[in-house]
Amino acid sequence: MNPAEQLIRQKFLQYYLAHNKGFYLPPSPEEREYGFLLFKEKFMVRHRAFRDPSLLLAAIRDLVPAHIYFSTAYYQQPTAPMDEKGWKRADLVFDIDADHLDTPCKPEHDTWKCKSCGILGKGGAPKVCPKCKNDRLEEQTWLCAQCLQHAKEETSKLLEILYSDFGVDPSDTHVFFSGHRGYHVHVYSNDLGLVGEEERREIANYVLGQGLEPELHELEELKSGGTTVIEGPQIGQPGWRGRMVAGIYDVLGEEGEQVGLSAAQTRTLMAQDRDKLFGRPFWSSVKGIGLTTWKALSSKAVEKRSAKIDSVVTTDVHRLIRLPGTLNGHTGLMAMKVQKERFDEFDPFNESLAFYGNMKVRVKDSPQFELGHRQFGPYQNEEIELPSYAAMLLLCKRRAEPLG
Ligand SMILES: [Zn+2]
Ligand SMILES: [Zn+2]
Repeated sequence: MNPAEQLIRQKFLQYYLAHNKGFYLPPSPEEREYGFLLFKEKFMVRHRAFRDPSLLLAAIRDLVPAHIYFSTAYYQQPTAPMDEKGWKRADLVFDIDADHLDTPCKPEHDTWKCKSCGILGKGGAPKVCPKCKNDRLEEQTWLCAQCLQHAKEETSKLLEILYSDFGVDPSDTHVFFSGHRGYHVHVYSNDLGLVGEEERREIANYVLGQGLEPELHELEELKSGGTTVIEGPQIGQPGWRGRMVAGIYDVLGEEGEQVGLSAAQTRTLMAQDRDKLFGRPFWSSVKGIGLTTWKALSSKAVEKRSAKIDSVVTTDVHRLIRLPGTLNGHTGLMAMKVQKERFDEFDPFNESLAFYGNMKVRVKDSPQFELGHRQFGPYQNEEIELPSYAAMLLLCKRRAEPLG
């Protein structure tokens, strides 16, 4: 462990020693597998189980991990090797993370470096290095209000799809802040809990609107006699049909131009009330917009209305996922449950703070950031005393070193 990790670990220990409220516990906590990623050599301790929450807290105080996880699956024997655990069912989970979102601010705050050839880049890391094609890329990401706001909007779209298309009961649905760059949604349902990886992949694809072909959703050209009529779904129809139509209005501007709408056609469409226009057969009502353009607009509308989840997480029925109430070793912030009723107002940069008092650190470099309603940075090679929550973020992000 380097000096920064030693200091972070010591602060995490103090936090967990002072912690006496107990953690958020999922249903049937004793049927879950727990995993701990240690500071030391990034070693993973897993296949642990706890009959009692106080034993879990004791283990956390003993190990002082950088990251704490529990399984979305329920097992007969959570401590057994993977193929002998006896899988019973698994919560349906969704992960929405800025890592998977295309936010315009990323080039300002994220960088990557190829571990093989050493070239540097701005923004989110590509899958492989553009120069040497190696996939060992090291990312330096930052916590950003714009990215998290985007993640929140994706989460809201996901919840709407789950409630209206899958009939998921809102009272079975729980939203969590990851303590870093995103949100998790967990659905506790006996029926959905039993579905396997194939079905979960289909659920993920549905939420993402992946492979949705507008012509398979009633969008078609009908020729009778000498006239051609375009027919399609209407607003208010259940599922993706109504959602697709409702989304068309949102993509009329710049994106409409990309698919060939003229300024005059856009004006004609925008001049009308959305619900009135799309509530009646409208697909043939604007001159000069053919089937190809409507299809392209519909696809853009689907793209806009889909929820950008990480489908790998949803598909995996043995997933370990962050335990709410514990610290995220990437930031020193708390992973936590968010009340859905006040999700819009939830402020991850204020409500997830875990450290108080002040700390002196040497900051190597840091972009400007806001935490606890205060503005910090940018910093460049300075020794500075900061509120502990801000110093811990910089230490966890390897932007600062302990002093002395
Ligand atoms: Zn390279
Ligand atoms: Zn951002």
